[in-house]
Amino acid sequence: LFETDPPPWELTVQEDVRLASIVFAKSPHGPYDYRIPDHLREELKPGMRVGVPLGHRRKATPGWCVGIKEGSSAHRKLRDVTELYDESPLCDAALVRLVMWMSHYYQVPAGQVFDTLIPSSVRAAAGTRQTTYFSVSPDLTAEQIEKLPAKQKSVIECLIVQKKPMTAAELAVTAQCTEDPIRRLRKKECIVPEVRREMHTGIRIQAQTNDGEAKQDFTLTPQQTVALERINAAIDGGRGRTLLLHGVTGSGKTEVYIKAIEHVVSQAGSAIVMVPEISLTPQTRGRFESRFDSVAVLHSQMSPSERHFHWQRIRRGEVQVVIGPRSAVFAPLPNLGLIVLDEEHDTSFKQDTQPRYHARKVAHARAMALGIPLLLGSATPSMEAWHATQSGHAELISMPDRVANRPMPDVQLIDLRIRDERGVSGAISRPLHAAIEETLRDQGQAILLLNRRGFATTIQCPSCGHVVACPDCDMPLTHHRDGGKAMCHYCDYTIGTPPWCPACRFDGIRYGGLGTQKLEVEAKSKFPDAKIARMDSDTMKRPGSHQRVLSEFRSGEINLLLGTQMIAKGLDFPNVLLVGVINADSALHFPDFRAAERTFQLVTQVAGRTGRGDRGGRVIVQTFSPEHPAIQAASQHDYLKFVEGEMVNRRKFNYPPLGSVARIIIRGPLEDKTETVADAILARLESARDLLNAEVRILGPAPPPIVRLRGKYRFHLLLQASEAAVVGETIRRALADFKVDPKEDIEYLIDIDPMNL
Ligand code: ADP
Ligand code: ZN
Repeated sequence: LFETDPPPWELTVQEDVRLASIVFAKSPHGPYDYRIPDHLREELKPGMRVGVPLGHRRKATPGWCVGIKEGSSAHRKLRDVTELYDESPLCDAALVRLVMWMSHYYQVPAGQVFDTLIPSSVRAAAGTRQTTYFSVSPDLTAEQIEKLPAKQKSVIECLIVQKKPMTAAELAVTAQCTEDPIRRLRKKECIVPEVRREMHTGIRIQAQTNDGEAKQDFTLTPQQTVALERINAAIDGGRGRTLLLHGVTGSGKTEVYIKAIEHVVSQAGSAIVMVPEISLTPQTRGRFESRFDSVAVLHSQMSPSERHFHWQRIRRGEVQVVIGPRSAVFAPLPNLGLIVLDEEHDTSFKQDTQPRYHARKVAHARAMALGIPLLLGSATPSMEAWHATQSGHAELISMPDRVANRPMPDVQLIDLRIRDERGVSGAISRPLHAAIEETLRDQGQAILLLNRRGFATTIQCPSCGHVVACPDCDMPLTHHRDGGKAMCHYCDYTIGTPPWCPACRFDGIRYGGLGTQKLEVEAKSKFPDAKIARMDSDTMKRPGSHQRVLSEFRSGEINLLLGTQMIAKGLDFPNVLLVGVINADSALHFPDFRAAERTFQLVTQVAGRTGRGDRGGRVIVQTFSPEHPAIQAASQHDYLKFVEGEMVNRRKFNYPPLGSVARIIIRGPLEDKTETVADAILARLESARDLLNAEVRILGPAPPPIVRLRGKYRFHLLLQASEAAVVGETIRRALADFKVDPKEDIEYLIDIDPMNL
């Protein structure tokens, strides 16, 4: 008898309730279980927003449902889901899983990840509005119409002629009347209203800007053919794989992407193509729009309602290709078959606010979960992508040659330490000067890269040595000539440029260093006949200005284009015969282990803008360190030589991609208090490390390269280990229940896989 009864402590609990797992935007923990009341049983699904009681708050706290399960109500106090905010899920099960993964990996509350994933316009259901349309009442007879006053009659006739419901505004225009007769007709029920939810009529869904981009369909080169075959095999293979398309600049990578996507689309699939925001030129758009029926281009200057419109189209499965910057990785395509990350090395793929995700990492997680290929493309693959090919995590596809047998451009290094080379005055050396003249004489175009905007990058007193700096960031202010402003490039603090030294009143303050504005002035005086344009974030503030300058450059209205790294990316203009790099070392001496990689990428990419037509092209690189491996390799177009050398450096210190790094930034208004918190975090990290017996190197707390930012003192800690999971778990353990006194206004940020130190 006793044997059949389970012992009391093993009482099998009855699963008697249905539970929803809920996550919040503020809480890093969870998900938490809530009971689903009967009336919501059928309606509530994962991916929907709910309101639930939390703590002692009176109002329901908004949260996201991430799962539904059967459970037991025994031995626990369960609270009910009290409100349901959505009619249908805002994201499907796969995206919910992606959110949960991101929340775990990047250590960000899942609710916050949802907020990143789903555009705010979609969440607010803004972008739709209710519009009232009128049609003629079916009960209205011809005699009744005849008896109506003239104005009202013409309104009715208008509706009859148009054969479709119209809004009051449309009617007023068409019938040439005020809204008064319409109101009267409505009162008499001669016309009947119908309310529709729809898009703002004010939105401008950008029409296809097919900027001279006729539909081209090339015969692929042998290298493109092989690349395409391998990608198509991966698409047909039906499992998650990563492919790295390493193709030199001008090897025709875009054409390969397009053909691969055509393959996906032919099987009723769809694709995401991510590009750095700045390469979302009409040219890139045009290439895709001329080849597919339905392309959605997402970009940061989109209005909320436009964003909402595209998002809904995408979700309904009406879009074949989504093109956009890093956030396009979340596009809710129902039948996703391929994700492409073009220029995968580009730093814009890492978000520098919470959640600090990298589109490559997220794309990888999404692709693997869906069992579809992730295609990375670059002429200068990141060390991470390259390492993946070496360790068997990604397949390498190479396109070492340009299309149409075009040679790579010759690169000439100018040693700025040698006075004769440098020339007498200014930033443009003698050889570069001669080359520009020659290019202009030959009706060619030239590009000059200087990766510093503004006029002068330091404002210093020659008498006392005082450097005018930002009171919030301690960084030297940059002098901008237009309007005589001195600006901090970290926080935008701006003052009028002081006419004399603010420290000693010496009248003769000097502007040193070189920015694009000063280069523009120099170019204008040295080449008075050239048609010059400057492209940097100062001149490109207005929407559309980027597009305008590029189309003027394309048409030849501009023949000398100078600017920051904006001009280094993706441009494909056959008449660019010369690229000049004013100072290749600008990124080289940064205290960041990626400095050499950045320099190599920048020089290689900008060099790739020339030699794209039949007239060839050349590159002149000015540098103080011509022997540096990054500059050497870039000048020889030798990616392999660069990565192999650089990999040795990374291995020495176990830096990514060989190890994994995370960074914790602590910031607050008072230096000593902030440092105390940083020390407390260090102590917790150390004990978590010892507890886990993990091999983690902890560096700091130290002041980062930018010590003060926006008035806050900053300290950072670096964690390094051979695996990301070890770093992540150490931080998770250490900071799970760590709270800073809210009165002190000190916050800490976790940056997993930081891209900028
Ligand atoms: P990448 O992105 O590799 O730098 P692009 O995709 O911009 O190269 O291609 C460079 C140029 O070559 C473009 O103008 C493109 O239209 C052209 N192109 C691409 N494939 C071919 C091909 N098979 N034959 C001829 N021209 C091509
Ligand atoms: Zn500042």
